[in-house]
Amino acid sequence: MVAVDLGGTRMKCGLVAADGAVLHRETRPTPRAVTDARGGGRAILDALVETVVELGQKATADGHRVRAIGVVVPGVIDAATGTVSAENLAWVGTPVLAALTAAVGEEVPVVLAHDVRAGGYAELRHGALAGTTNSMFLPLGTGIAAAMVVDGSLVSGDGYAGELGHTRFVHGDAAEQCACGQWGCLETVASAAALARRYGARTGRTVDGAREVLELLAAGDPDAAQVWDDALRVLVDALVLYTTLVAPTRIAIGGGLVGAGETLLQPLRDGIHARLTFQREPEIVAAVLGEEAGCLGAALMAWDRVAADVSEDTT
Ligand SMILES: [Zn+2]
Repeated sequence: MVAVDLGGTRMKCGLVAADGAVLHRETRPTPRAVTDARGGGRAILDALVETVVELGQKATADGHRVRAIGVVVPGVIDAATGTVSAENLAWVGTPVLAALTAAVGEEVPVVLAHDVRAGGYAELRHGALAGTTNSMFLPLGTGIAAAMVVDGSLVSGDGYAGELGHTRFVHGDAAEQCACGQWGCLETVASAAALARRYGARTGRTVDGAREVLELLAAGDPDAAQVWDDALRVLVDALVLYTTLVAPTRIAIGGGLVGAGETLLQPLRDGIHARLTFQREPEIVAAVLGEEAGCLGAALMAWDRVAADVSEDTT
């Protein structure tokens, strides 16, 4: 199984066996998506196809047979046409499925997977959500989206589900405009990007991402403490809402902010505990697969496709 994760400045690639064992891993630079959507988007698609073909050649040389391809993409996947629109890749209805199929042949199934859902699927099968039937993977990174497991199934909502980052938890004058166009979204306060931006806005100082805000927090900086408390407050609101709606037994937090460890997790547990009355209280844990989750999840989804095709053939 060849798996490639396009979410980030480098493509994370792997060869993954049917049991989820990663046989080979490597990263490659993602070409820059220049403002010319045609040129930049085309270069990224060409690089993806080349990577998939070369990894397939490596698999063959190592004595494996490539059964399917799994690719993680940020943005919106049109499952019916196999096209992808992703602003940061300069892809607008780009025919990713057709390009990969032309390169690897019709007989090798290609699975395009949403980045957060692929990560959530890997955590469900081999990570922090293993053994659960109602749970959530919530990476707090540049943005915020959720992979939702409800009654044993990963919810996709035709590709639209899980946008918890774009629900409003800040009202009135304090609400900031979100990249989605709305105001006061969870993502404007509690993403890693928001922490750095909000600290900068308060202090006039430019910081090196959320990592530096967390260092300032640990050093007792009062402005860092304020933006951190704001983030925790809306995260508790979001987790209480999710818990009330779909009753997860476990929530795994991932993304850059989970590097804060118990500084993040314990206040979330305490905040939720104080707010729930009749609802079932979820465990709050750290995701365990880190940056590899998306790539692994795409591979597992592609293996599922192979298994489904085989069972179809035999019935
Ligand atoms: Zn939003």
